[in-house]
Amino acid sequence: MPPAHNYIGGVIAATHAPRIDVLNPATGEVIGDIPRSGKGEVDSAVQAARAAFDEPAWRDMAPAARERLLHRFADLLEADAQGMARLESLDSGKPIAFTSTIDVPYAVAWLRYYAGWPTKLAGKAQAPAIHGPSFHAYTLREPVGVVGLIVPWNYPLILAVWKLAPALAAGCTVVLKPAQNTPYSALRLAHLAREAGFPPGVFNVVLGDGGTGQALVEHPGVAKLSFTGSTRVGKQILASVASDLKRVTLELGGKSPTIILPDADMHSAIPGAAQSVFVHAGQICFAGTRLFAPRKQFQQVLDGIAGVAATFGVGDPLDPATLLGPLISQAQLDSVLARIDASVKAGATLFCGGRQVPRAGYYVEPTILVTEDRANPGFREEFFGPVLVATPYDDLEQVVAMANDSDYGLAAHVHTRDLATAHQLARKLQAGTVWINTQLAPDPAMPFGGFKQSGWGRENGEDVFDHYLETKSVIARIG
Ligand code: NAD
Repeated sequence: MPPAHNYIGGVIAATHAPRIDVLNPATGEVIGDIPRSGKGEVDSAVQAARAAFDEPAWRDMAPAARERLLHRFADLLEADAQGMARLESLDSGKPIAFTSTIDVPYAVAWLRYYAGWPTKLAGKAQAPAIHGPSFHAYTLREPVGVVGLIVPWNYPLILAVWKLAPALAAGCTVVLKPAQNTPYSALRLAHLAREAGFPPGVFNVVLGDGGTGQALVEHPGVAKLSFTGSTRVGKQILASVASDLKRVTLELGGKSPTIILPDADMHSAIPGAAQSVFVHAGQICFAGTRLFAPRKQFQQVLDGIAGVAATFGVGDPLDPATLLGPLISQAQLDSVLARIDASVKAGATLFCGGRQVPRAGYYVEPTILVTEDRANPGFREEFFGPVLVATPYDDLEQVVAMANDSDYGLAAHVHTRDLATAHQLARKLQAGTVWINTQLAPDPAMPFGGFKQSGWGRENGEDVFDHYLETKSVIARIG
C-alpha cells in the first residue's frame, strides 16, 4: 500500500510525524505505514471540522439534502463493495467470506437506515405545565458540534459507520481515529463521502495510535466522543473527560453467555453457538464466549461445537473458502495463548484446540475450555480470540446466576423452542442485547450497548441521537 496520510478539510494532509508500520495479520508482513499523529495534526483536524460545522453550506443544509448525501454515500460504498471488502480483509485479517457478506453490506445498510433520519429529527411544541396559555414553548434539537470517533481494529468499517452515519444525519462534523492496525477502510470511506458531496471538513480522518486518540479526547474543540474499544481504555477516557464534561458514549468489552436449554433445536443451537465465538476468530465484542449447556446434554453439545469448528477452513483471508482467519497481531496472539494457559493452570480442562496454528501469521486453533469454577480466568476475562469456555448447569435459576456473574453485560444468547421461557430469561439476563435462537445479528433500528462495564450509552436506533443532539427549550411569553 502507498504511505497513508491524514485526511483533513477534504484534502490529503501529509505530515512529518513519525511513521507506524501496518502489518498483514495473515502473514506478519508490512503492507504499509501511517503517521503517528500528535496534538498538532489532531488540532488541524478538529479545526477543519469546526470550520465546516460553522459553514452555512453544512449548518443550514436542508435535512432532505443531508438525506440525499447519505444515500449517495451508501450508493458509492455499495458500488465499491468488492474493493472495500478486499481492503478490509487485507487490513484486519477477517475472511473475505465475511467482509463481502457482512461488513460491507452492513455498512451500506446502516448508512441507508440513517439516511432516513435527518427529516425526522425535530423538536416539539409543548404546552407549559405551570405558565398557562400566555406562554408558548417548544424544543429545538441541535447538533452538538465536532464529534471525535475512536474505533478498534476488529470491525473497522462497520464500527466507523455505526458512529459516522448518525453523527452526519444529526448535522455534526466528525474526526475519525481508526486503530493503528486497520487504517485503510476509514480513509477510503472519507474519500467516498467527499465524492458523494459532503462539504470539505465534515468528515476528517487522523491516523495514529493510542496517543493520537488521547489527543482527540483531550482536545477542547471536541464536543462529544464516541469510543469503541477495551474497557481499560474506556475508563481512561472517562477520567480524561471529567475535566471538561465532554459528552461520551463508550462501547466496551464483553464476556457474553450462550445458554442452550434442554429443549433447544440442536441442529441450529450447536452451529449457532460455534459461529458466535469462532467467526472472525472470536474478535467480536458480543461473541458468545461462555457456553452454558444442560449437564445431561453437555458432552453432545461440546462434541457438536468441536465438530463445527473443525469445518472452519483455516487459510488466507482473501480466499473465499477461508472461515478462520488470524488474530490481529502478535500481541493479541500472545495474549490469547497466555490466557488459555492461565485458565488451564487454574484448573480448566482443554476440550480441544489451544495451540497456535503452525503457519505464518497469527492464527489460533478454535479452542474449547471446560470449567465450573467461576473464578477461573476463562470464566471471567475477555480473551478476544477463538476460545469458548463451557460450563454445565442443572437448572434455570443456576444458569441465570452464572450467566449474570460477570463484570460485563454486552449480549446474551438463548436457544430454546419454548418462547415463553426465552422471554422470561430475556428479562432476567443482564445484557444490552438478548438474542433468541440467533446470534451475530445486530440491527440498525435496535439500540446497542452494554450493561455494567460493557459501556455507557446506546448506539443504533433512534436512541443514538440523544448523544449527537442537544435539546434546547424555548419559552416565550406571548400574552
Ligand atoms: P483499544 O481500547 O486498545 O483501542 C481502541 C481504539 O482506542 C484504538 O483506535 C486505539 O488507538 C484507541 N486508543 C488506545 N488508547 C487510547 C487512549 N488512551 N485514548 C484514546 N484512544 C485510545 O481496543 P482494541 O484492542 O483495539 O479493541 C478490542 C476491544 O474493543 C475489546 O475489548 C472489544 O470487546 C472492544 N469492542 C467493543 C465493541 C462494542 O461495541 N462494545 C465493539 C468492538 C470491540
